[in-house]
Amino acid sequence: MNFLNNVLYFIFPPECEFCGKTAKNYICNKCFEKLKNEKIYNPQIKNYEIKLENNFYECIKHLYIFKYEGEIRNKILSYKFKDKPYLYKMFSEFFVKNEKICGFLKKYDIIIPVPMTRKKLSQRGYNQSELIAKEISKNIKTLIYEKNILIKVKNTDLQSSLNRKQRLENVKNVYKVQNEQKIKEKNILLFDDIYTTGATCKECIKNLKESGAKEICILTIAKDFEKIK
Ligand SMILES: [Zn+2]
Repeated sequence: MNFLNNVLYFIFPPECEFCGKTAKNYICNKCFEKLKNEKIYNPQIKNYEIKLENNFYECIKHLYIFKYEGEIRNKILSYKFKDKPYLYKMFSEFFVKNEKICGFLKKYDIIIPVPMTRKKLSQRGYNQSELIAKEISKNIKTLIYEKNILIKVKNTDLQSSLNRKQRLENVKNVYKVQNEQKIKEKNILLFDDIYTTGATCKECIKNLKESGAKEICILTIAKDFEKIK
């Protein structure tokens, strides 16, 4: 922390997003433990088979921490849409403070966030997935954070405004891989905030696999179980 940050820290100490008490990473221990006892807290690793080009199936894993409901849903929405970039610290805690999860993440070589287009990035000011992916890699020393491999080349409509079929169409051919040599034969974690139909992740995975990635695991804060038409 530099001098200015130190001063700001004392004038405006970070507060727990849930109860308002001073808390370094925007969540106090009490609220952290309380959330862990709620139904929405449900860390899971699921296996999926996804269909890539030419009827070729790929087995991938998905690790998520919460069900996309209640308080966590509200916090994710304010993190994304209400200009609260600092909440990345709070969300990262759920990954890096869990020994089992860290043990699992250590098996991977690289962590890549689901990218935004430049236009979107300049509108929002930050990419919520980048901030968390970077923080996770800071805490797991062997995990390399790479944000210049997977890029988004076309603007899309907001996925949450579309149905299942439209979501698949909307993300087709919008991602591209550059610096391919960096991911050849590597095990990759793909970070996104929420998993809904999986359309975005599948499209990213298709690109990463075609560029030679070995094993891929999707990592999200939450999974949305609401049925989408
Ligand atoms: Zn609290």
